[in-house]
Amino acid sequence: MKVLVTEPLAEEGLERLRAEPSIELQVQIEPKPEQLLSLLADVDGLIVRSKTKVTAEVLAQAKKLRIVGRAGTGVDNIDLAAATAKGVVVVNTPGGNAVSVAELAIGLILSCARNIALTDRKLKGGIWAKKEAKGNELNGKTLGIIGLGRIGREVAMRARAFGMQIVGFDPFVAESDLGEQGIRLVALDLLLEKSHVISVHVPLTEKTKSILGAPQIALMRSGVILINTARGGLIDEQALLDGLRSGKVGAAGLDVFATEPDPPKELVAHDKVVSTPHIGASTVEAQEQVGYDVAVSVADYLTRGILKSAVNYQSVSPEEMSALSPFLTLSSRLSAFASQIAVGRMQAVTVTYFGLLARARFSVLTDRIVCEALRPFLDDVDVNPINARSLAKSRGLQVTEASAQSVDGLSAGIRIQLTTDQGSVEVEGTSLGGGRAPRLVCLDKVEIDTPLEGPTLFFRNDDVPGVIGHLGTFAAERGINIANFALRKDGHGGAVGVVQLDQRMKKPHRDELRKVPGIRFVRSLDLP
Ligand code: NAD
Repeated sequence: MKVLVTEPLAEEGLERLRAEPSIELQVQIEPKPEQLLSLLADVDGLIVRSKTKVTAEVLAQAKKLRIVGRAGTGVDNIDLAAATAKGVVVVNTPGGNAVSVAELAIGLILSCARNIALTDRKLKGGIWAKKEAKGNELNGKTLGIIGLGRIGREVAMRARAFGMQIVGFDPFVAESDLGEQGIRLVALDLLLEKSHVISVHVPLTEKTKSILGAPQIALMRSGVILINTARGGLIDEQALLDGLRSGKVGAAGLDVFATEPDPPKELVAHDKVVSTPHIGASTVEAQEQVGYDVAVSVADYLTRGILKSAVNYQSVSPEEMSALSPFLTLSSRLSAFASQIAVGRMQAVTVTYFGLLARARFSVLTDRIVCEALRPFLDDVDVNPINARSLAKSRGLQVTEASAQSVDGLSAGIRIQLTTDQGSVEVEGTSLGGGRAPRLVCLDKVEIDTPLEGPTLFFRNDDVPGVIGHLGTFAAERGINIANFALRKDGHGGAVGVVQLDQRMKKPHRDELRKVPGIRFVRSLDLP
């Protein structure tokens, strides 16, 4: 497997990747767009920071790509929708740089409040600007934090030590999530009206773009200090410049700009602006941490299928994964079995989880089930658990999941019903031996106990004497060895059979088998 790194990554991260015997590491710092396209042709994993633009076009070229790792938090340089549609998982390293960014935000607040950068500049020019540089204490002032994620909360904690009152706005955070952090949740307008200092810590999205524009600045206190260490574009730069010129905005501390590395000259040149060139996460500690974290995430996913901190897919903790892992193969094989014997155009997948699984995070299993249910119907698209649900949705396939009490004395089981325009198939399975032995235990309400593994032949036949004898003779005459055989009456004058063979039955043999008297239906199954 190949992993390409296109931006500087801490040595700790590179070492972690080199330590993985199955990974071939390629480091090519900031390749030109066309070079990136050719490098990606045979790459399984890509690691970037914020400069590499992982667009839909780039993703389309990366035929083997399974994971994009972002060393850092913001993923606005990655087309998430295109990645999801392609089944490419995107991971980031939340938290690894939160302290560094928060410390910079506090530094900018202090610099703005006490004119540190301004007076330093003047002094360097020989001007003793003591009189013009009267500042304000932070003590007793209100800090408004927009976005109470990891960084926002780290800023709040540090600002409290300066005696600030903290108000916060974050529609996705409840008061109970904040515990004893001393942050009062308020509506955005109230935060804008009350705060002496406002710091933004939200991702840049369509919704948050210009979250602080002219109308919002109009609501603020005169002389407000604005801090942006999140993303350029969150504060409308023209409105900010207008606010600074009119005195409505007292000062601004900016680490990020809408156009990097060319921020608006008038803005950065303004006396009341303290600016830094996107260095929020540029500390030794943060870079070591995020470099290592992203390498672990990419290596874990490629080599062991473990997913942590996924941005476009649900993340499963190691504990949850170890509870689910005995059922991952069962989910895939049971679904593959059902979809390969189903006839007609797939319309709905209904999954019911029993026993232990009823209490687990079973949607991870459903993703695998939907993936295998779709696979026989998608020639042109590479379906995997990451894009399975979005492909299902785009093709009008209805997916329903439910949980129920244990049935048939199974401690844990899965039932899958596939509905097509010509009928339905229902299979039930369980997993023995810690996941080593996935088994089919029921097919269309008929109890049948057979392993789900290896080259498998499924057939329906007339329930009359001689059919099984014919089948045995047929296999023997063609040198096909039967490893396991399960047969049950279907209750409608017929029977169903599942046979494990030593090798896959070839098409001409299957065609011949269909002509054996009493055989109604034959399918050769590929179980993943
Ligand atoms: P996070 O995901 O932990 O927190 C983001 C918070 O924003 C979440 O709580 C979310 O609920 C909230 N949010 C989303 N939309 C919102 C909205 N419309 N209004 C209010 N709140 C909203 O992320 P984080 O680790 O705290 O990072 C925050 C941002 O900081 C990142 O998205 C990134 O853009 C930026 N960042 C910058 C640097 C830098 O070098 N300057 C480094 C790291 C991160």
